[in-house]
Amino acid sequence: MPGSTELPLKVAIIGSGPSGFYAAEALLRSGRIVEVTMIERLPVPYGLVRSGVAPDHPKLKQPILVYDRIARSAAFFFLGNVHVDRDIGMGELMDTHHAVVLACGAGTDRRLGIPGEKLPGSHPASEFVGWYNGHPDYHACTFDLAQEVAVIIGQGNVALDIARILVKPVDHLRHTDIAAHALDALAKSRIREVHIVGRRGPAQAKFTSQELSEIGEIAQCSAVVHPGDLDLSETCRIEAADKMSRNLAKNLETFRRFASGSSDAHRRCYFHFFRNPRQISGHRRVEGVRFARTRLTGEPFRQAAVDTEEFIDMPCGLVFRSIGYHGVPIAGLPFDDARGTIPHRDGRLIDPSGNAIRGLYATGWIKRGATGIIGTNRADSVATVASLLSDLPGLDTMPKSGSAGLAAMLAARGKRHVTYEEWLRIDETEVRTGRAKGKPREKMTRVQEMLAVCGAACD
Ligand SMILES: Cc1cc2nc3c(=O)[nH]c(=O)nc-3n(C[C@H](O)[C@H](O)[C@H](O)COP(=O)(O)OP(=O)(O)OC[C@H]3O[C@@H](n4cnc5c(N)ncnc54)[C@H](O)[C@@H]3O)c2cc1C
Repeated sequence: MPGSTELPLKVAIIGSGPSGFYAAEALLRSGRIVEVTMIERLPVPYGLVRSGVAPDHPKLKQPILVYDRIARSAAFFFLGNVHVDRDIGMGELMDTHHAVVLACGAGTDRRLGIPGEKLPGSHPASEFVGWYNGHPDYHACTFDLAQEVAVIIGQGNVALDIARILVKPVDHLRHTDIAAHALDALAKSRIREVHIVGRRGPAQAKFTSQELSEIGEIAQCSAVVHPGDLDLSETCRIEAADKMSRNLAKNLETFRRFASGSSDAHRRCYFHFFRNPRQISGHRRVEGVRFARTRLTGEPFRQAAVDTEEFIDMPCGLVFRSIGYHGVPIAGLPFDDARGTIPHRDGRLIDPSGNAIRGLYATGWIKRGATGIIGTNRADSVATVASLLSDLPGLDTMPKSGSAGLAAMLAARGKRHVTYEEWLRIDETEVRTGRAKGKPREKMTRVQEMLAVCGAACD
């Protein structure tokens, strides 16, 4: 039995984002003899730290330095370019490992569920974010940046990232790791106005204060708020006065600054509140969004937006739907479709009857839903690994073939996996190519390109 007979405990982790790496760290520091196999569907690691965090926020990508240290441990094996479900099944992972930790994030977007959502010109946030960040799934996406007005539905930090990329002077992005195709397209962009729209009020917007304030500092761009939207109801004033809401107090101060500033810059970024999208309208493509005016009801901190009879039509040529990410199910495993997560108790997967499924665990966005910053995943993964370690006496007692067994299975079916050493070659090539252009790296945006650097036949 792992732990009692000193056989190495072999754990597979699905996903190489923050939650996967923090789970690996917790396992490797547990004091037991452990071997970690990290399986990633892309040839490159780091999940949303590479393909979500905005290119103009390089400091926020620094956790990668920690992940790299973890990956260099002798007991850590990276198997990139391997999709769990398509290339390898859960059963095979269980056969080769004592336990499997799902850390596969939230790979798709929540739907608005309104007419016109799929009109050309209406895009989920993940598509635009993946495109400018060079994620291979999105390199072929196109966005009609000849349009002058874009609407972003949703009021969280991802909406702010999208707005910044749209309104920043392109010269301020040239020396970031933004994908080359995005830089070229943004250089020709005619976007003048970006409207960030939320269902609730300024006191409920989920922006963090630093990111919100940054919108007001963009060159040649005015941030605009209608002063009337800042007249808070009594309930909102209670929320704003709460000692815990320092972020909220700062946001309200920032909105007041935006409301009193000038709006004569070349580009403008508007914030609108109390508007619920009811329809994305247009004949062959997006021509506007129809919103119902809302009002808030309920207790402080639990206020819900309800539609009124008043409608507001906003003409626009592009819509970005930024209302949250949603997990993707894995064949044979339970899934909560409403929340986009895998049902669990203390990180242990549970079946529909509520019983823990032996040897299966979850962490990160696939466990909690798409909330929380990079650091939030650390405590989450530590807690999941604590559950795993406390289950040890009951886990499978047989020796397992681990990463070597999995690699052999993949080779037998002609599937080329990418090792961590090979990722370092991709990394080195990206950094070298980027340096020549004054960028921290020039990301490869196609899997074939990445595999070619590894000397692999493209599959
Ligand atoms: C646009 C955006 C910007 C953000 N910016 C910031 C920021 O600036 N600062 C901050 O602190 N936080 C930021 N966050 C939040 C942060 O990125 C998340 O908290 C964190 O990435 C979640 O980690 P995770 O490991 O659960 O998921 P992910 O980071 O998504 O990692 C999941 C990994 O699993 C892989 N995977 C999925 N399915 C499979 C499969 N079937 N087989 C194999 N591999 C699979 C994926 O390819 C991915 O690499 C941002 C999030 C988004 C969406």
